[in-house]
Amino acid sequence: MPNYYVNDNAQDNGDHEVHEEGCSWLKQVVSSTPLGYHSSCHGAVRAAKEIYPTADGCAYCCPACHTS
Ligand SMILES: [Zn+2]
Repeated sequence: MPNYYVNDNAQDNGDHEVHEEGCSWLKQVVSSTPLGYHSSCHGAVRAAKEIYPTADGCAYCCPACHTS
C-alpha cells in the first residue's frame, strides 16, 4: 500500500496535487503533508480534501484520480 503526500503549495490552477511516495514530481515539491497509507489514490485524495478542498491526483502517479 503506497504512502501518499499532498503538495502544500497550490498549482497555478489552484489544485493541491496528491502524489504517491517515489513520484518524480514529488521530488520537486518544496513542502508537502503526509496523508498516510491508502490502498488507492481515491482514499488519499479524500484525505487530502480534508486539508485542501481543491486536492487532485497527480497526472503522472495518480492518473485515476487526476481530474484537472
Ligand atoms: Zn505524482
